[in-house]
Amino acid sequence: MEYKYVEAAPIQSTDQDPFESMMARFEVAAMLIDLDPGLYKYLKTPQKQIIVAIPIQMDDGEIEVFEGYRVIHNDVRGPSKGGIRYSPHVNLPEVKALAAWMTWKCAVVNLPFGGAKGGVKCDPKKLTKVELEKITRRYTANLLEVFGPERDVPAPDMNTNEQVMGWIMDTYSMHARHTVTAVVTGKPRLLGGSHGRVEATGKGLMFVTNSMMKKMGLDPQDTRIAIQGFGNVGSVAAKEFEAIGCKVIGISDVSGAYYNAKGFNTSQALAYRDTHDGALEGFAGGDKITNEELLELDCDVLAPCAMEDQITSHNAGRIKAKIIAEGANGPTTAKADPILAERGIAVIPDILCNAGGVTVSYFEWVQDRMGYFWTKEDVFEKLERMLTEAFRDVTATAEKYDVTMRIGAYALAIDRVAQTLKLRGIYG
Ligand code: NAD
Repeated sequence: MEYKYVEAAPIQSTDQDPFESMMARFEVAAMLIDLDPGLYKYLKTPQKQIIVAIPIQMDDGEIEVFEGYRVIHNDVRGPSKGGIRYSPHVNLPEVKALAAWMTWKCAVVNLPFGGAKGGVKCDPKKLTKVELEKITRRYTANLLEVFGPERDVPAPDMNTNEQVMGWIMDTYSMHARHTVTAVVTGKPRLLGGSHGRVEATGKGLMFVTNSMMKKMGLDPQDTRIAIQGFGNVGSVAAKEFEAIGCKVIGISDVSGAYYNAKGFNTSQALAYRDTHDGALEGFAGGDKITNEELLELDCDVLAPCAMEDQITSHNAGRIKAKIIAEGANGPTTAKADPILAERGIAVIPDILCNAGGVTVSYFEWVQDRMGYFWTKEDVFEKLERMLTEAFRDVTATAEKYDVTMRIGAYALAIDRVAQTLKLRGIYG
């Protein structure tokens, strides 16, 4: 299957800036669907950008002030949804880009959500649990008017976890004077979390990649997979691919990459990681190669599941995979897109490929509001159905306009948000 790469708008982006990469695709897709110039302006601009000061007393008695952000990109289709990251490098432009990304991701899967993102500039490695809890509670208290099950629903992102979500839920509930589980997703199951949230992204990646493999006539038994990143997304994806009969020939993490032409036993690799400080360092199940070599392995599917900007204009010409399944957010730069398209490599874009996570977050929000919880089987069956539909919608849009799946996904998402906006009208 070949897609034409349409350069309807000049791609002016570097290989390093996720916001530029996102906007470059937005511009192309907007031109393609002939987006009304007024709506274009509307959708480019985040609805709210909030900066809050977070003063807390540290364990040594000193007062420290941290900076927190929450950006609501768009809530036209429903409450805004998006994670909160804790990192010393997080900044407002980054949060803005990630918030817009969430709007498109939710629209691709047809979830009744808009997009948002948040962050606190801090280094969790240097904070105690008590300090982290204080930061989380004060951040939440400062954003009480913003958050809410009907308004804006945070979730975990880089360096935030179930426990942090639990503190957000508790702080919000204390102020509301009753328990409000649906204000945040990614909570522990005891606090209203859903079955299947941990597996959701990796499993979803396998579902959409398998749909693509079927479309391209690739039998799982003959499909060789290389996966960059062996964390939540990459390790679950590896297990899922092995379970449907694929051969996982390459795995990697921050410690390096490993190659086994016969295919890894993924349970063994997982057990090794879990007993060795969460890393594959020293794993003897395959030959050690570099991360660059992993990306350029002779394989059928390459799944970058680690971080952004891994496939760039510098290495796109050497990628040998037939399919790139983007588990990470933004692993391919906009400059790499035309090179991959020209070489006939099918890229399943992040806003579809890793949308399993936000889809199960949606299920968590639904279950919390009903007060009725589904089984794991229910969750996975619904996840597969929604992602298969999204895959079908994205490929149909790509075929309609004769463009890559990425531009197809953006076109589908922007069109859905724009249609909703037109029906609602502009108030004011
Ligand atoms: P994680 O922290 O659990 O795992 C990240 C993995 O990448 C680790 O194995 C780490 O060692 C590896 N890694 C880091 N730097 C690397 C490098 N330079 N080369 C090779 N490997 C490297 O994170 P995660 O939750 O699996 O998320 C991975 C990506 O997927 C991120 O981009 C995240 O935004 C995206 N994502 C995650 C979810 C989710 O539900 N967890 C949902 C959507 C998107």
